[in-house]
Amino acid sequence: MENIYCSIITIGDELLIGQTIDTNSAWIAQQLNPIGVQVKRRVAVGDNKEDIINALNEEQKHSKIILLTGGLGPTNDDLTKPILCDYFESTLVMNEAVLKHVTSFFERRKRPMLAINNNQALVPNNCVVLFNEVGTAPGLLFEKDDKLIIALPGVPFEMQYLVSTRVLSIISKKYITPNFIHRTLITAGEGESFVANRLIEFEKTLPQNIKLAYLPKLGLLKLRLTGTETSAAEIDEYFNTLKSILANIFVADQDIELEAQIGILLNEKNKTLSVAESCTGGHIAAKITSIKGSSLYFKGGIVPYSIESKENMLGVNTHTIETTTVVSEATALEMAQNCLQKFNTDYALSITGYLEKNDHENQVWIAFANKSTCIAKMITVPYDREKNTVLTVNSALNLLRLFIIENP
Ligand code: AMP
Ligand code: MG
Repeated sequence: MENIYCSIITIGDELLIGQTIDTNSAWIAQQLNPIGVQVKRRVAVGDNKEDIINALNEEQKHSKIILLTGGLGPTNDDLTKPILCDYFESTLVMNEAVLKHVTSFFERRKRPMLAINNNQALVPNNCVVLFNEVGTAPGLLFEKDDKLIIALPGVPFEMQYLVSTRVLSIISKKYITPNFIHRTLITAGEGESFVANRLIEFEKTLPQNIKLAYLPKLGLLKLRLTGTETSAAEIDEYFNTLKSILANIFVADQDIELEAQIGILLNEKNKTLSVAESCTGGHIAAKITSIKGSSLYFKGGIVPYSIESKENMLGVNTHTIETTTVVSEATALEMAQNCLQKFNTDYALSITGYLEKNDHENQVWIAFANKSTCIAKMITVPYDREKNTVLTVNSALNLLRLFIIENP
């Protein structure tokens, strides 16, 4: 079966000077993959006619589907629409349905409509208009032989709306794509190369059509099996073997964030959580509360960043800090126990450590408490402040997950 390839052209000067990070391409690629379309190339170009046309010509040599994002807005720097109009030898016509939508869009927001907003309803006369319910710039779809060229707005949520509601089904109807199946395993606590070493024999057993990818993150490792033209049963067989080899470092058998897993665990057991984070400054609480419905189980957190606040706000014993220092097992344990009491929760997590890069590896103590048990673990963090924060947060969330499982 023929592979169906897609090129993504992201348009905007802001992407080239690094002012905006191109998140659109990654998001689009994640959506196309499950419907069997492979992203062949990603190109970013500025708001420049020649560059946009060159990219359009070049990408058609590589891909049947060309998705463009950006430059559809009403301002003078947005060039995509007039360029596509020229490129496909069309003329701009007023689309009454779009005009009505744009007008009511401004009315509903009680904002005056300017003349340039009328222009949003001007569309090339030989394209399919992808009606944009959540914004004002419609998407434009051109069909040329067996190729699809689709221009979408740059604003991520508008682009996402059009891809989800229109583009994916249009692509699926037009092309017969090979089937892809992905399975993701998340592990923690062992580096990529150590894991790869354990999987040498396993990798030799994989057939041509099943590939293993390593996606390391700080403190976590995702392993993805991708099968082309395979069955769920076939890929599951390999996936189960992979799971059993890595059972001791297993975190999840789907692509799910740690904070979401913790939410599921706490909800199932009807338990509550609080956190006392010194060096991570609230990053853990932010992760926990990024999950919808977290108010059901998360009671709150405290950031006792100084010695005084550890003593005064959290009630850590001055003697403990003086005799064992502020980054110690005893301090972490007391922080977790006191946090549990102050917030009156079933579980508490505490963190105290140094994250600034040093000439030696820094220590971070992480403690976990429930009403009957309190334990602390030490991790070493060898990177700079930013990476050490991520590593600490990921490690702490995974250890918390294990603590909840092991201490019901
Ligand atoms: P435009 O459609 O070019 O007017 O872009 C509208 C907004 O979407 C701007 O604020 C851009 O920074 C943002 N944007 C454009 N392209 C991308 C992209 N590839 N990824 C993320 N944001 C983008
Ligand atoms: Mg732009």
